[in-house]
Amino acid sequence: MTHPTPIFDGHNDVLLRLMHKGDHASGAKAFLEGTDKGHLDLPRARAGGFTGGLFAVFCPPIERAASVEELMRGETYDIPLPTGLALTDAQQAAIAMIAGLFRIERSSKGAVRICRNAADIDCAAVSGALAAVLHIEGAEPIDADFRMLDILYQAGLRSIGPVWSRSNIFGHGVPFRFPSSPDTGPGLTDAGKALVKACNELKVLIDLSHLNEKGFWDVAKLSDAPLVASHSNAHAVSPHSRNLTDDQLRAIRDSGGLVGINYATSFLREDGRMNADTPLETLVRHSDHLIGILGPDGVGLGSDFDGAVIPTALGDVSGLPKLVEAFRAAGYDEETIRKICRDNWVSVLRRTWGG
Ligand code: ZN
Repeated sequence: MTHPTPIFDGHNDVLLRLMHKGDHASGAKAFLEGTDKGHLDLPRARAGGFTGGLFAVFCPPIERAASVEELMRGETYDIPLPTGLALTDAQQAAIAMIAGLFRIERSSKGAVRICRNAADIDCAAVSGALAAVLHIEGAEPIDADFRMLDILYQAGLRSIGPVWSRSNIFGHGVPFRFPSSPDTGPGLTDAGKALVKACNELKVLIDLSHLNEKGFWDVAKLSDAPLVASHSNAHAVSPHSRNLTDDQLRAIRDSGGLVGINYATSFLREDGRMNADTPLETLVRHSDHLIGILGPDGVGLGSDFDGAVIPTALGDVSGLPKLVEAFRAAGYDEETIRKICRDNWVSVLRRTWGG
């Protein structure tokens, strides 16, 4: 059997699925031995060529309207932002998921490696280990004095999305709204601007996905690192509030940054609907547009595995070779495919982190 094309991915929520609730031992077992639930675990990752990526710590809203998924199947929708999280609630949730990732690594006997620098990713590639980069989606666990930032950095945190789709002390996320511009509210707070500076000093990646447009431009103005949106798509193809306008894409290009293509059907489809019956050609339309602006060095993948309704045509992480085939069918050459699937992510992490 030929080896599948190696993938390095910008976003998954497997820690939320397996480690947020329930005990770590069974979560680690489910990840390492595999199940048929959700999208991502180690055996299915190996089958699909998924060699690593950013593993998100996402502190879920305490209360969320049960009808959100139903609403996003509609023709238009405007989901109100959920209320903010208390610091202690967010920290508890984050500790559960981060400790869960430590447990996975420890139980894996070398098969999973938490990567804190580019050399770790290189070593994981050589040994065949799954490379996990610790990422926070929404900085609610971090206090305004950044004490928790120091602790999380020492624990291995190397990527921060200042906001998820809600407001916090750092800024305001974009609501799930279709059709809509991403310009939905005010930009970063003073604490948010200080967080950008702190991330630059620590050489921690700042993730632009989920920020509204003003917050995006605040980061673009302040940050000295390549601009990265780990899991967002092209607004020109699907006019969703979560997607990036051509002006935003050009700013990312000019910084030497990257956009990871999100497989969430509501951000892929031209009609904005959450509907798993979505052909992979729809995803290729986004990659065509993104490559048209960012070039073949500025586009990667950002699956949203275990965090979104993705095309049935892909199914789960083991279906990634079908996506590679869709790129081939669209006429992408092998070098471009290698870059989109893995090398661009590793390059932008190396340039952000140094070394
Ligand atoms: Zn997300």
